[in-house]
Amino acid sequence: MAQLKIENLHVEIDGKEILKGVDLEINEGEIHAIMGPNGNGKSTLLSAIMGHPRYEVTEGRVFIDDVDVLELEVDERSKLGLFLGMQYPQEVSGVTNSDFLKSALNAHRETPIGLFEFVKGMESSIERLRMKEDLAHRFLNEGFSGGEKKRNEILQMIMLQPRFAMLDEIDSGLDIDALALVARVLKEEQDKQKMGLIIVSHYERFFELIKPTHTHIMMDGKIVLSSDDTLVTKIDREGYDWLDAKPAEKPEEHQRRIVLESCAIRDRVGDK
Ligand code: ADP
Ligand code: MG
Repeated sequence: MAQLKIENLHVEIDGKEILKGVDLEINEGEIHAIMGPNGNGKSTLLSAIMGHPRYEVTEGRVFIDDVDVLELEVDERSKLGLFLGMQYPQEVSGVTNSDFLKSALNAHRETPIGLFEFVKGMESSIERLRMKEDLAHRFLNEGFSGGEKKRNEILQMIMLQPRFAMLDEIDSGLDIDALALVARVLKEEQDKQKMGLIIVSHYERFFELIKPTHTHIMMDGKIVLSSDDTLVTKIDREGYDWLDAKPAEKPEEHQRRIVLESCAIRDRVGDK
């Protein structure tokens, strides 16, 4: 069984230390929830594992089995079976969604995928996610709504079939029906492929549907508490104040946007 192992990971952005020693072990088939106040390093952790050039690893190691992930380029990490569903998916003008998907898939294969097999796979995934059919032929994420971008990340995950998928606030921007649908599709994929999942979310309802096997709280660049999914409910009821650990100081401007976004979803759902 494959294992993603993160050891004492320290990461800097522009010379500022954001991750201060993260240890995590994720086995295939496990679902790890990561929660924590905004601005405390959750996205940094996922981006650093995937190999985003902005995030400089200054100490620590990341392995998939005996392969040293930090030695690999982003595309090699992807081929090895890592996937990142981004918090803010990029819009790419001039590249259609289906061309992008096909290139990504072919990069993982010895021989290019046949057109029929590709179209069949993409169409059935688009249908499962109840996406609009024309999204396949539009430029990647360009003009997509927040929810469409998030579903598109899941579409990529389904097509690429990673061994370890990291999903960063994949639920934000989804209305309640879309949230349930995405959670169901994710569960189905996870059951089928036995992937390891790391899911960052603020949203208890999403975790109720996903049923994480492990839950971690990240504060100021460290995992300060790990438990099972009962921790999600406790955080939802009591917030983070009861923890001994203190969050990183003052979220910066781009972080505040996320807080507002998650509150907006809660209001719409009306159960909080
Ligand atoms: P979270 O996902 O927990 O909200 P992040 O990992 O996005 O937190 O951010 C952690 C810290 O790193 C914050 O202080 C944030 O402002 C800073 N940060 C994140 N991305 C960048 C960036 N691209 N440039 C500069 N600082 C950043
Ligand atoms: Mg984040």
